[in-house]
Amino acid sequence: MTNRRTFLAGGLAATVFGGATRSDGAREAEPRRVILVTLDGLRWQEVFRGADAELMERTGGNAAAAESIRATFWNDSPEQRRRILMPFVWEVVARRGQLLGDRDRGDEVVLTNGLKFSYPGYNEMLTGAADPRINSNQKIPNPNRNVLEWLHGRPGLTGRVAAFCSWDVFPFILNRERSGLPVQAGWEPIAGEPVDPRRATINALYEGLHREWDNNVYDALTFESALAHLEAEDPRVIYVAVGETDEHAHHDRYDFYLRAARRADAQIRRLWEASEANPAWRGRTSLILTTDHGRGEGRLWTSHGQNIEGAEFIWIGLLGPGIEPRGADAPAVRATQAQIAATVAALAGEDLRSDVPQAAPPLVEAVGAAR
Ligand SMILES: [Zn+2]
Repeated sequence: MTNRRTFLAGGLAATVFGGATRSDGAREAEPRRVILVTLDGLRWQEVFRGADAELMERTGGNAAAAESIRATFWNDSPEQRRRILMPFVWEVVARRGQLLGDRDRGDEVVLTNGLKFSYPGYNEMLTGAADPRINSNQKIPNPNRNVLEWLHGRPGLTGRVAAFCSWDVFPFILNRERSGLPVQAGWEPIAGEPVDPRRATINALYEGLHREWDNNVYDALTFESALAHLEAEDPRVIYVAVGETDEHAHHDRYDFYLRAARRADAQIRRLWEASEANPAWRGRTSLILTTDHGRGEGRLWTSHGQNIEGAEFIWIGLLGPGIEPRGADAPAVRATQAQIAATVAALAGEDLRSDVPQAAPPLVEAVGAAR
C-alpha cells in the first residue's frame, strides 16, 4: 500500500503519497467523501510552532488580553504549544495523516502565483494552476474552471458538491453563475434547500447578528451552515472556507488571531467527527486543510502580498484512508498550492488531469470510486 515516488511539478519535487486502497478490492467500488477546509492567511509558523512569544504582546495595547493569551497558549515546548493551539490538527491529522510545510524540518510548500494574496491563491489552489490574469481581490467572475465545479459535473457527484465561505468574493472565485455550483458566502443566509428548524435558527443569526465586517461573516456561522448541510444533505464533496484568522491578523490582533485558529480547529473536528459518525462515510472520508497564503515574519506578520518575504510559504494537512502517517525521519516534502485541486479530485476518486491536463499533479493517487 505504500507507493511512494517523486517527480517534478512546476520545478519542485513533489512527493506522492500512497494511493488510498487501490489494491483493496472490497473498497474499490465505495464512493469517497472529501472535506476541504481553508483557513485564510494562517501562517505555517503558528501551525508548526504554536504561539509566538514576541507576537503575543500584539493585542492592540490591551495588557490584560496579552496576559490572557500567554496563560492560554504559552508553553516552553513548541510541540506542546502547537497542540494547545490546534489540538485536532496535532492529535488527529498529524498523528493519523500528514502535515506538510514545516520549514523547520526542510519542507517547502509554496504558492506559485507570486502575488501572495487571497484571490490568486484560491484560484491556484482550486483550479490547479496559477493565472497571471487573476491579480486582484475584486469581484470579477473567474474565467477558470475549478475542481469543485468539475467534480459537480461528474457522474454521481452532481448535486453532491457544495461550498460554504466566510468571504463574499467566493461566488466570483468559484464563478457561481457559470458553474452552477451551490455556494453560500458572506452574509447570505442558507437558501435553496428545505430550511429545517436547525437551519432556520442559523438563518436567524445571519439576520440578527452585528456585522463586524460587511464582506466576511463570522466563521462560526460558516461552519454551522456547512455542518448542517453535511448532516442533512449527504454531500460527497464539501468546501468550507473561513477567514477570521486573516481579518484579525490585518488588524494586528494576535490574540484574536490565535483564538480564531483554535476555534477553527475545534470546528474542523466537529466536521470530521460528524462524517465519521455516519456509518456510510466512516473510514471513507478524507480531509484536506490548507491556506491561501502565508504572511510576513516578525512585525510584518500582519501583512502579505507580492513584496512580503516568506508569504509564499503555506501548509497542507491530509487525513483519510490510505494517507499513511509521516515518520519523524521521512524526507522533506516539496509541494505547491496548485497541487491541491487534483488532490481534492483524487481523494474523491477522480482524475482531474484526464480532463484538465494543465492542472498540477495530485499529492495522492486517485482512488477507485463508484460512479
Ligand atoms: Zn489577507
